[in-house]
Amino acid sequence: MSNTLDGRVVLVTGASSGIGEATALALSAEGARVAVGARRADRLESLARKAPGEVLALDLDVTDQESVRAAVAATVERFGALDILVNSAGVMLAGPIAGADTAEWTRMIETNLLGSMYTVHAALPHLLERKGTVLQISSTSGRTASAGNGVYAATKFGVTAFSEALRQEVTAQGVRVVVIEPGFVATELADHITDPTMQAAAKNIGTSMRTLQPEDIADAVVYAVTQPEHVAVNEILIRPTDQT
Ligand code: NDP
Repeated sequence: MSNTLDGRVVLVTGASSGIGEATALALSAEGARVAVGARRADRLESLARKAPGEVLALDLDVTDQESVRAAVAATVERFGALDILVNSAGVMLAGPIAGADTAEWTRMIETNLLGSMYTVHAALPHLLERKGTVLQISSTSGRTASAGNGVYAATKFGVTAFSEALRQEVTAQGVRVVVIEPGFVATELADHITDPTMQAAAKNIGTSMRTLQPEDIADAVVYAVTQPEHVAVNEILIRPTDQT
């Protein structure tokens, strides 16, 4: 891959808001043709209207393997190839382990971990053909677990483990694997937390520091995917300066 995205084909999951949306817009501005997937079709349509380049909006639920396979197939059918997969779909339903609603655990594991595995599985034949790139939006929680985010952190540690194994399997074939680990980014992620204490803590973090913005992460994505072919940026950790 050269260091321009002109004509490159990208699929971004979780593109209806936050980091995925900003990343889709940034990659579009760099000349990529971008397929964007999520469940909120209206948000994807408005993204498609804002983007400077060609955008394909796809109804995608990453927990559903059929939906994932259909999204990859639709991308390749429309644009003729797939060069870059960005896995940004995710949920963070933070809360203590004792007394947790385990349906929230299932949702996080199915979305953050299995969902990203399914998209990699479906996209990999195309990425191998094009010497493409898999870019995983993990988290600082993929490096350090803390009280109240055990299951979310487990999914992100899992993404890191899966990504390193994938890297070893495909790097000799020219496919690059990138893991990006953001700290606190101002998005809708914390809005879905049902535990009132954790919800209040997240809101407090959001107002008590200069948080990262989704565009800060999109800039890192653009950096990683525009390096010359012999350069594999495997991991980027980005925290707000104010985050201890
Ligand atoms: P947002 O809530 O703004 O975005 C989450 C995205 O995931 C939405 O587009 C949502 O779309 C999508 N999504 C959720 N469930 C599914 C599903 N089943 N199928 C398809 N898409 C789904 O949060 P962020 O942008 O912050 O989160 C993006 C990623 O960044 C996540 O993986 C998150 O863990 C990670 N991250 C975020 C940090 C932060 O501080 N914000 C820090 C570190 C990592 P829809 O609901 O329309 O399907």
